[in-house]
Amino acid sequence: MTATPNPTPPQPGVTGIPTGLLIGAGWRDASDGKVFEVECPATGEVLATVADGGPADADDALAGAVAAQASWARTAPRYRSEILRRAYDLVMARQDWLAEVMTLEMGKPLAEAKGEVAYAAEFLRWFSEEAVRISGDHTTTGDGGNRIIVTREPVGPCVLITPWNFPLAMGTRKIAPAVAAGCTMVLKPAPQTPLTSLALAAILQESGLPEGVLNIINTTDAATVVQRWMSSGKARKISFTGSTAVGKVLLRQAADAVMRSSMELGGNAPFIVCADADVDTAVEGAVSAKMRNMGEACTAANRMYVHRDIAREFSERLAARMAELNVGNGLDEGVQVGPLIDAAARSKVQRLVDDALSRGATALTGGRPVDGPGYFYPPTVLADVAPDSDLMTTEVFGPVAPVIPFVDEDEAVARANDTDWGLVGYLFTQDIDRAFDLSERLEVGMVGVNTGVVSNPAAPFGGIKQSGLGREGGKVGIDEFLEYKYLSIPRRRGREAASR
Ligand code: NAP
Repeated sequence: MTATPNPTPPQPGVTGIPTGLLIGAGWRDASDGKVFEVECPATGEVLATVADGGPADADDALAGAVAAQASWARTAPRYRSEILRRAYDLVMARQDWLAEVMTLEMGKPLAEAKGEVAYAAEFLRWFSEEAVRISGDHTTTGDGGNRIIVTREPVGPCVLITPWNFPLAMGTRKIAPAVAAGCTMVLKPAPQTPLTSLALAAILQESGLPEGVLNIINTTDAATVVQRWMSSGKARKISFTGSTAVGKVLLRQAADAVMRSSMELGGNAPFIVCADADVDTAVEGAVSAKMRNMGEACTAANRMYVHRDIAREFSERLAARMAELNVGNGLDEGVQVGPLIDAAARSKVQRLVDDALSRGATALTGGRPVDGPGYFYPPTVLADVAPDSDLMTTEVFGPVAPVIPFVDEDEAVARANDTDWGLVGYLFTQDIDRAFDLSERLEVGMVGVNTGVVSNPAAPFGGIKQSGLGREGGKVGIDEFLEYKYLSIPRRRGREAASR
């Protein structure tokens, strides 16, 4: 049974969102009273100040999660399922409000933010359904002597770390399977976007999540807070979404504690357009794979390899489509491209574009930052990009599409795979055999065939190589939060069976 959600958001804008730390029984200030400011990247306006947790708060939060673990693990799957289902209903009932909060603190256009709310909510619904389908196995040893009964148990208290680019969906993609499996959590959201996570936590409380199951520490000192959890010996699992560089630091810490690890890390997605592709479909696919979230997505197409016969036509049409996109404050009607997250992100994009231009690339559109307040950068298409440009080996995380012609498929595959990352690849062709052949040869965890979108809660999201370990979503998403336990039970007449 689900509660009837209240369709009215608590307050307009970010007003009314808790700004403290969620520790055990409730919300509180940082123990040393510290706070930090959350800024709107479109205007520079300070939206709120939130508690800035330190080591003592981190310890308390983990203690809260540890204390709640045993009783939470014993709850009925249906009980956990219904909490998630209520949270789904509440998130969807407050879709407009949550979208506005996200646009305010992160910058993405309102329409995209609404899409993220629906995507994020779907993880709550998906895992509410998975919670009641956790199953084990039963078999007999080869010699017939013993029964083997395999059960699944929650791994225990989890450390969850999320980035700023999809603040709601990256939260629910971890929290929902952890709740479904019966794990307690300490969550550290990105400091640029804590308000979305805090609003979600309030909704989960309203949905009936018991005290101590979810604990949240906002902090400007991630390294200290998280290291504290990792070295505690009490956290059993780390689930991290963020850059490969930070993922490696956390994997080293996890090794010392032999912790289960799920890593959703960076990408450098190739986008291959074969000579037989439908160019309209490829251009539209490129716009979605490049421009979702202003290019600040791990799935963003980073390198566009286009067959030389259609490279010019594709580049010009892509440039024309990108030039039409409306750049501005994501709250404004009709805006399709919001600001980048901060000044450093914008400077990084400009440095990469300048490097490519200095090596002979041509900007078909964009290429210079937009003046005025906010961290805006225009949609940019670069042609004739030299293969040794920094753009090709760096995750751009901005609205820049470099187009590189290729001669044959072997060359396209070799270039596509010539990277340490392996999250996602895109390919466009009208030949089904070619589609299967190329997707098998791409060293990635996900392939978009004639589409620029792969993310879906029903699908296993994740990468290979340095893009990560494990999968989020789909049927396997809950496995990341479960351990196997096997019971060995001798059969009554096993000795007899074994001797036959
Ligand atoms: P980031 O710098 O790695 O930060 C991610 C999170 O880790 C933040 O909450 C950050 O907090 C925290 N963090 C940083 N240093 C830490 C440390 N030493 N110990 C513990 N936590 C630490 O990444 P980002 O710039 O926020 O996000 C962009 C990256 O995420 C990109 O590479 C993108 O591809 C990747 N990403 C991957 C996926 C995926 O599913 N594969 C999805 C989204 C994003 P502070 O900011 O306070 O340092």
